[in-house]
Amino acid sequence: MAIKIDLRSDTVTKPTAGMLAAMMAAKVGDDVFGEDETVHQLETKLAGMFNMEAGLFCPSGTMTNQIAIKCFTQPMDEVICDQSAHVYRYEGGGIAYHSMASVRLLHGPRGIISPELIEPEINEQNIHYPNSSLVVLENTVNKGGGACYHLAQIEPIHTLCNIKGLKLHLDGARIFNALVATGNSAKHYGQYFDGISVCLSKGLGAPVGSVLLGSKETIKKAVKIRKAFGGGMRQSGFLAAAGIYALDNHVDRMSVDHDHAKALAGILNQVSYVASVMPVETNIVIFEIAKGYNTENIVHLFAEKGIACGTTGPRTVRMVTHLDISSEMIDRALEIILHLNPSPHK
Ligand SMILES: *Cc1c(COP(=O)(O)O)cnc(C)c1O
Repeated sequence: MAIKIDLRSDTVTKPTAGMLAAMMAAKVGDDVFGEDETVHQLETKLAGMFNMEAGLFCPSGTMTNQIAIKCFTQPMDEVICDQSAHVYRYEGGGIAYHSMASVRLLHGPRGIISPELIEPEINEQNIHYPNSSLVVLENTVNKGGGACYHLAQIEPIHTLCNIKGLKLHLDGARIFNALVATGNSAKHYGQYFDGISVCLSKGLGAPVGSVLLGSKETIKKAVKIRKAFGGGMRQSGFLAAAGIYALDNHVDRMSVDHDHAKALAGILNQVSYVASVMPVETNIVIFEIAKGYNTENIVHLFAEKGIACGTTGPRTVRMVTHLDISSEMIDRALEIILHLNPSPHK
């Protein structure tokens, strides 16, 4: 078989030679003792970029999100988010388990929610009702095919939360994809959110890690919760160094991933086995298989030709572009997509 084109997720990237060199050169210490200067440098750097007071390096995006939710809720509270949200669907029921909170689900177009959708779902003070205390946004929306919020859409949500006394958290697993696509600047984000999770191991291409950003007070609380979650790490500066390298070298190039995703969508829109493709804004392409074709069969045929991808539902397939996908691989993928000849009713 020829080259393997792994479009399953932007988590599959391996560290580049430059990144490995930066990791090897990192100055480290025991971060649970607060003595790892590289971890501290990463946390400070990201907090500065987003105009937030402080940061906390954690092993995963699930952990930064779940710590934030625990910081911003009490047991019996309610979290408001879209039905597609990663914090609700893909974090193992963590909101109930860690925070003992319930969830109110909204149905935004491609997972993008608005004050008009949020406001009617905020509970009045009444002993019958859970206390609405937190809104979570996701940018970009994974299950929404990489759809982005612009700052202009976030600002009125922030205003509503402020008036109603709710906290606002951002699941920014792919926030840099959103910043590159919208041209918005990270430094305007801090004023709107109480917490921001930034993943280093998605489009940025680091092997591990996510940073939670917030006020000094929030991060002080978060350090304690991270410890209780088992997420306190020791000489984690080796991993933090990969994150710093990624922030310095892998942000601007994300536009290449976005161009690659648009090229994939362009050809998918032309083939008969695809019914529709979600508009591509960033590095995620989600498409619906046409009636009469079998989704699993198509994913299997792609795999035989060298394209690895996955399903997001019974009729939908997802392809994600990233750092380890070259333009040559995209050219090859376009040919495979164009010439794939699945038989209907199989
Ligand atoms: C990947 C992802 C996360 C975090 O996932 P981990 O695998 O725990 O790092 C959070 N939110 C979204 C939208 C994601 O895609």
